Amino acid sequence: MKKPRLAVWKFSSCDGCQLSLLDCEDELLDVAGAVEIAYFLEASSATGKGPYDLTLVEGSITTPHDAERIHQIRRDSKFLVTIGACATTGGIQALRNFASVGDFVSAVYAHPDFISTLRTSTAIADHVHVDFELQGCPINKAQLLEVVGALLAGRRPNVPAYSVCVECKRAGVPCVMVSKGVACLGPVTHAGCGALCPLYARGCFGCFGPKEQPNTGSLAAHWVALGADETQLLRAFRGINANAPAFRKEATFHE
Ligand code: SF4
Ligand code: SF4
Repeated sequence: MKKPRLAVWKFSSCDGCQLSLLDCEDELLDVAGAVEIAYFLEASSATGKGPYDLTLVEGSITTPHDAERIHQIRRDSKFLVTIGACATTGGIQALRNFASVGDFVSAVYAHPDFISTLRTSTAIADHVHVDFELQGCPINKAQLLEVVGALLAGRRPNVPAYSVCVECKRAGVPCVMVSKGVACLGPVTHAGCGALCPLYARGCFGCFGPKEQPNTGSLAAHWVALGADETQLLRAFRGINANAPAFRKEATFHE
């Protein structure tokens, strides 16, 4: 039987989410046995043309070339899944959306005239239809394997959209906000990390992006009650997922 064809694409990103796939170690051989890896430059220089049954896209749209290329990839793909904060919200590079990209380019490059870039960094779903968004910076490899396995089996991926707080409770981690008064974005952040930061008595800084229907306004008010000022709030919501609508709303409301 013909194997499903898998393609993995990079846009503006650090490659960390693609590395999560390579980091699957034991499971990678099973994945490689179940699919034909048709295009994955991080793993192989051999490239195969579309159509692809499953496409994974890492990175955000930041250049005119990106904005064109994603449409061809969408046309070539039966299922298209975005992986990581860059692809799902625009990533850390979306901080440009709050300022002038021209000013950044002039400050960084000796010859800004050679730089071809868009004013904003945006999620893949802002440009084409996306079948599933897998959040995280980087993504959780167990969640990635679940998404790949589910889509190849023709079922809906089982990736819970609840908050990091649920993972804290499951891990028996004392709440850092309640017990220590530490500001934490866990109540509005998508689960997937296993409450890594609270496990080390630190507040979550939202690297998995917004959970389903996050009440960021209520959390911001609670942070103010804990003593956070406007600058702390802006910095918290202007992080890795600053361009996610729920976070962007709080990152701009207090200006
Ligand atoms: S430590 Fe943070 S993530 Fe954990 S329960 Fe408290 S608020 Fe939620
Ligand atoms: S910042 Fe939040 S989502 Fe990211 S690893 Fe820490 S607790 Fe998890």
